Amino acid sequence: MAWFTRQKSAPRTGAPGEEQTVKTEGLWLKCDGCRQIVWRKALEDNTQVCPKCGFHFKIDAAARLRTLFDGPWEVFDAGLISTNPLEFVDSKPYSERLAGMRQATKLSDAVISAGGTLSGRPVSICALELKFIGGSVGSVVGEVITRAIERSIPQRRPVIVVSTSGGMRMQEGMVSLVQMAKISAALMRLDEARLPYISVLTDPTTGGTTGSFAMLGDLNIGEPGALIGFAGPRVIEQTIRQKLPEGFQRSEFLLARGFLDAVVRRPEMKAYIAAALDFFCGPVS
Ligand SMILES: [Zn+2]
Repeated sequence: MAWFTRQKSAPRTGAPGEEQTVKTEGLWLKCDGCRQIVWRKALEDNTQVCPKCGFHFKIDAAARLRTLFDGPWEVFDAGLISTNPLEFVDSKPYSERLAGMRQATKLSDAVISAGGTLSGRPVSICALELKFIGGSVGSVVGEVITRAIERSIPQRRPVIVVSTSGGMRMQEGMVSLVQMAKISAALMRLDEARLPYISVLTDPTTGGTTGSFAMLGDLNIGEPGALIGFAGPRVIEQTIRQKLPEGFQRSEFLLARGFLDAVVRRPEMKAYIAAALDFFCGPVS
């Protein structure tokens, strides 16, 4: 089993000058887009988008909500936890994995469901959390999003879901797969109530998440450079036995082929959604 576990690196030697390095660590970081050194504060001021090249760093669910809501938000269904219906065990029991994730992220599962105002308009926003088992959608995420949609109908609130997800949660098997149908059915009722649903797809959005609610928006908006797809490129290449084109499964590629309605930079996302909601619902009264 040794090849699965990362060997502990050799203890660091206390060479002179190393302390200096440690002290400045954290103030600067290397951009994954342009490989230049970026000041962390400049990145924070720009919603974690590189000021030099526009590369979008990943942000967590709470940071996402901060970029969209006007002020504080109310959190719903934060206490829901999975019952581990299959008593699934992979490299460790699923229940242990969940407990570890809950502790690490301070969330009960891979989503934050929140209500608040966006440019003065009351809205419901569900933001998925990639750090919680890859933002995978199991019974809890499915139920939380469904409840958010159902709550929004009598309240006459538009719904926004920000996805970042590897797909359905394999540890819950069929129970996670039915969440695709459940959320989609709730979105249908939202549609019948003539309320808009906006889907924001961020890096990465794949699997059943793309296969269901992330692609069902009245507007499907991608972030620049986001990986969006159903199956992974390697699987597709092996199936169709063809080389895939450059930029395949990235936002811009999908926009050019009509799978997305817009690609919007994160600093402009809130204003873009506000303008879209003005269009769908009329100006805020
Ligand atoms: Zn950059």
